[in-house]
Amino acid sequence: MRLLVILGTRPEAIKLAPLILYLRRLAGLSLGVCTTGQHRDLVMEPLRFFGIAPDFDLEVMQADQTLSDLSAKILTRLDPILRDGDYDRVVVQGDTTSAMCGAIAAAHRGIPVAHVEAGLRTGNSASPWPEEINRQLISRIADLHFAPTSGAAANLRAEGIPQTAIHVTGNTGIDALLAARSRLGKPEPRLWRAPGQKLILVTMHRRENLGRGLSELCWALRGLGESGHQIVFPAHPSPTVQENARSILAGARGVRIFEPQGYPRFVELMTQSDLIITDSGGVQEEATALGKAALVVRDATERPEAIVTGAVKLVCADRQAIAAQAKRLLATPPLLKPADAFGDGHASERIARILKQVAQEKLAQVA
Ligand code: UDP
Repeated sequence: MRLLVILGTRPEAIKLAPLILYLRRLAGLSLGVCTTGQHRDLVMEPLRFFGIAPDFDLEVMQADQTLSDLSAKILTRLDPILRDGDYDRVVVQGDTTSAMCGAIAAAHRGIPVAHVEAGLRTGNSASPWPEEINRQLISRIADLHFAPTSGAAANLRAEGIPQTAIHVTGNTGIDALLAARSRLGKPEPRLWRAPGQKLILVTMHRRENLGRGLSELCWALRGLGESGHQIVFPAHPSPTVQENARSILAGARGVRIFEPQGYPRFVELMTQSDLIITDSGGVQEEATALGKAALVVRDATERPEAIVTGAVKLVCADRQAIAAQAKRLLATPPLLKPADAFGDGHASERIARILKQVAQEKLAQVA
């Protein structure tokens, strides 16, 4: 069996790395890894951490390009690789433009697609945008759907996808998290705190939050810093995030803006934090698995399991609401335990086994 794994952004690299490592160990399988280059440096760091070197790089990154420019480049640069590679299957993960274009390019060549982290839905095409659209398109194309939870599987069934094509596996992101956590070294010296001082870890970069949402968050952080808390904000390299955050937070007491952190560093920051404020999807799963409280600056989440466990609370992008909720969670922390709502750390193993079994069944049919 010849497989091509296509990825383009940091969360795809993190969540596909453990699966790639499993697939590499399977006999009778030839594996190619293709990065689109949508987020080049952010992708190479976790791939290096897991010891993975891509076989192809589409080098599509360009400042200020539209989603259509990006999509056109991925489609045209991927096609010759698919044409010449004689692949039996393409694997994509999640809901990025890279994943969506990977699925479409494969479909154009008649190559079956497996979708990892299938079935997440908000039901609102505008939030998260364009991810909700991308994940729904991929579900229309894929013939194998690896749902992280039974809720995600139910979403797929409700859209008419046959039960036999859906496998509940857990999220491979939890496999990555547990692997990274087991390799953590000494605690970070930058995280020294005065006794009683709380650490708040912040990330924010979703398109719908750029502009007003990010400004509201930064004003809330200024207030929280004034209250004596320590805040670290590894800011996404997007120029809008950098400019907005650095201008509002310049000189703010207790607030430090970091470069994006390498994956193990970021895992360490999460384990050390008292509260996470984020709009990330993956961080909601990680906070749940680590038993950390997370305030999620979004109107809706496609990860309701995180709310059910109590780890995640949604908050609207309003400085007073964010500051008030954060203060409440720090003063009366919820009683949380690490929860396996998103997986038990064996998702990649399950997916690799199913991919192999499906390939063997196909071979048997041909013979
Ligand atoms: N992450 C990281 N360094 C950082 C911030 C986040 O390695 O400075 C990791 C985080 O642990 C999670 C992933 O990046 O696994 C989340 O990526 P992002 O928020 O970009 O995407 P989303 O999860 O929203 O799709």
